[in-house]
Amino acid sequence: MKKIYKAHILYTKERSRFEVLENGYVAVGADGCVTGVAADVASLADEDAEVVDFGDRLLIPAMNDLHVHAAQYRNQGIAMDMELLPWLQTYTFPEETKYADTGYAERMYRRFVRDLWRFGTMRACVFATVHTESTRLLMRLFQEAGMGALVGKVGMNRHCPPGLSESVEEMVKGYEELVHDPCSPLVRPIVTPRFIPSCTPEMLRACGELAAKYQLPVQSHLSENKSEIAWVQKLEPESTCYGDAYDRYGLFGQTPTVMAHCVWTDDEELELIKRRDVVVAHCPTSNLNVASGMAPIRKFLNEGLRVGLGSDISGGHDLSIFRMMVYAIQVSKMHYQQNHEWPFLTLSEAFWLATKSSGSFFGRVGSFEPGYEFDALVIDDSDLNHDHYSLLHRLERFIYLGDDRQLVHRFCRGQEITEPKRIEEL
Ligand SMILES: [Zn+2]
Repeated sequence: MKKIYKAHILYTKERSRFEVLENGYVAVGADGCVTGVAADVASLADEDAEVVDFGDRLLIPAMNDLHVHAAQYRNQGIAMDMELLPWLQTYTFPEETKYADTGYAERMYRRFVRDLWRFGTMRACVFATVHTESTRLLMRLFQEAGMGALVGKVGMNRHCPPGLSESVEEMVKGYEELVHDPCSPLVRPIVTPRFIPSCTPEMLRACGELAAKYQLPVQSHLSENKSEIAWVQKLEPESTCYGDAYDRYGLFGQTPTVMAHCVWTDDEELELIKRRDVVVAHCPTSNLNVASGMAPIRKFLNEGLRVGLGSDISGGHDLSIFRMMVYAIQVSKMHYQQNHEWPFLTLSEAFWLATKSSGSFFGRVGSFEPGYEFDALVIDDSDLNHDHYSLLHRLERFIYLGDDRQLVHRFCRGQEITEPKRIEEL
């Protein structure tokens, strides 16, 4: 059914400024894609379309999370007293081992999907665990919810507890099952070698072959922490940088690739990221919590790299991508104090990173330009809007002060998405 939505519309076609339509209209076709956006309904006139009036509310593109670990959801907000490598061994691997039990996985994954929904994230690049059955379950939960996700069964076979180590053959078999599962067009597997230290050369080669054979996207971690980078250099002595270690196995842009962090990316790695059109998932809270550092996002943008935002639960403690915009701006201000050649991020830039730039990894997602999939949020900010704020200041106040209580409608590819159920509610 074709629809025309009326509201105060805000989005970013380009990163330097917002498009603002006071009492504007966005028309959505039966396929869930935007057919027009305009200040007056006459220019969108379509007698078959139902007009839905959201009144004084704000209508913006929905959020995208480019890097999040569903199987670390229980650890959100705890265990922040270590750097990356001991943090993985002490807190993270023991938690992920529990996902061999699909009952446990269902309890946690339902809560995770529900909470992504709460904070208005309609698309996500997700790490599950090595376990095929619970990964399949997570894909099914996204499908049932109607939300978009690229879900990774994690490849690991060294430097981890036995419960998280899988043979190369088992990993390939698991992926081939997931690839052939009937699934919604919004939910697909993504090849997910955890990071170089967790995967033998044979495992990395098999991951690259799977991506090429089934034309699957790839996600992993890159240049997050200095000890990690030194370890990768030891494990892959031939590689010229960390990114090159993935590239040698066909895991760096041969199919669409997103790499989290890039805190310590040097100029050589930057050039390779650019050449391979790899997307950087910036995870500012995680980089603060596990003391990794500050990624040079302004430098990446100046160099024309594609960048998006990730919550990186549970290195990150906050699932809200709105809050991630705030952290990205704040971290860029700290970074600016150290490097005045790189000005800090503006609000429109942070919003663009979370919507149109992140959304590009999922297709035409993250804007209201014609042809874009209608992923959208309706914000009722009446409790935050007490003194004649402009529309842009209303949005800014919501980003800085708001939460799920102000989100009154959520759409993914044109469909309104209702609250997914937790296991306690079934
Ligand atoms: Zn991560």
